[in-house]
Amino acid sequence: MATANTPSFNKGLYAPLSEIDPEVQNIIDKETWRQFSGLELIASENLTSRAAIEANGSILTNKYSEGLPGARYYGGNEWIDELEILCRKRALQAFNLDPEKWGVNVQPYSGSTANFAALTALIQPQDRLMGLGLPDGGHLTHGYYTAKKKMTASSIYFQSFPYGLDPSTQLVDYAALDRQAKIFKPRLIICGASAYPRDWDYAALKAICDRESAYFMADIAHTSGLIAAQELNNPFAYCDVVTTTTHKTLRGPRAGLIFFRRDAQNNLDLEKRVNEAVFPACQGGPHNHAIASVATSLLQVCQPEWKQYARQVIANAKTLATCLIEHGYKLQTGGTDSHLVLWDLRPLGLTGSKIEKVCDLLGITINKNAVSGDASAQTPGGIRLGTAALTSRDMVEEDIKVVAEFLHRAVQLSLVLQKEAGSKMLKDFIRVATTEREGKVGAKMVKELRRDVVAFARKWPLPGADASTIQRPAGIEEDD
Ligand SMILES: *Cc1c(COP(=O)(O)O)cnc(C)c1O
Repeated sequence: MATANTPSFNKGLYAPLSEIDPEVQNIIDKETWRQFSGLELIASENLTSRAAIEANGSILTNKYSEGLPGARYYGGNEWIDELEILCRKRALQAFNLDPEKWGVNVQPYSGSTANFAALTALIQPQDRLMGLGLPDGGHLTHGYYTAKKKMTASSIYFQSFPYGLDPSTQLVDYAALDRQAKIFKPRLIICGASAYPRDWDYAALKAICDRESAYFMADIAHTSGLIAAQELNNPFAYCDVVTTTTHKTLRGPRAGLIFFRRDAQNNLDLEKRVNEAVFPACQGGPHNHAIASVATSLLQVCQPEWKQYARQVIANAKTLATCLIEHGYKLQTGGTDSHLVLWDLRPLGLTGSKIEKVCDLLGITINKNAVSGDASAQTPGGIRLGTAALTSRDMVEEDIKVVAEFLHRAVQLSLVLQKEAGSKMLKDFIRVATTEREGKVGAKMVKELRRDVVAFARKWPLPGADASTIQRPAGIEEDD
């Protein structure tokens, strides 16, 4: 609290956000209301816990602590050291790793920075790497480039070459990768994806890496929560390095982790290389508030209930897939092993962009996504769905069936809108979706469906907010 002696230039240090900055508070309130009122189906998102949000908003944000526990460049790190050691211990425990064989760096700010630090640790500038191509579900940071442009640091500073899917099965084409690796001779093969609904054959990839003397890295950003629960194959049995985000299925705050093998058997000193790549090569001071938040999230991953959460996420995704298939829709690979479903809209003559837009109007958050064989990356032919966030709002199979019905209605409605638009242009489509006109039913159907979606969504609790007292903030107009 400010005292009578607090000078005016310091008075603002003590006022709550809502008092000192109602503008930012109002934006937070509007976003809270949106999360409460809608259905979050973006596969890379989740709803972190109240405890994680508390830690993330803590006074730890004040502290500089470049370096590692016991070897810092600043004083005053007694408690920060304790925190980072605790976070590392929980990270290893969450993934059932033996501290003799594995270590972890918990300082990466996010998944992309974790990946660049991992590349910096493993290979030299301009060395060759292979990752799953972006249009096939891979991530930007796995070497993405286009014909005209090196798009990411992973293709600017390294020579990258993508592997892909077998068009007939839409599964990773391990045989083709094997042949390409013989020719390309990568120093590193990266597996893991952002839009791939199936599990990985780590043993097959490891065999290729061994033959080519390549490092093997798994980026499990999407599936780490499910891998921790041992509901998916275990990359740690095969990889040299494993990276992950902490905010997807792992359900923590936004940050990243890099796990590295430390058994002396391969004598690579990955521990030193990874730690030095994170700091000083790629980052400065760690975000200690985030590390605290990751630590408390990992505590939850270490509980026996975590397995139930992960199982429910997968059961929900499988239910979603089954419902959509029963409606006659086409899914990439025909289903899922994880939290993620890739819906191919091309047989309907619809694009991912249109469904993303309609769903936005309806309070259903999803994203457009390329599907295997897409002619143009500009107009992806599918959408990506995930069940991690809805499962965090307590939904189980029966509830997901309701959600699947909403999605079915959204797509059928989009066919009506496309007809009424009289063209295939996105802007005409949006216009008919948002303006009610004589003799046209599309915009009215949008309103009706939105009402149903919002009424359903608001029945569920929202971690981080109190659903019993939550109120519509100023600046949100609605008639529902
Ligand atoms: C999300 C994701 C990342 C990047 O994470 P950011 O936190 O957005 O930087 C990296 N790799 C994969 C596979 C991802 O899905």
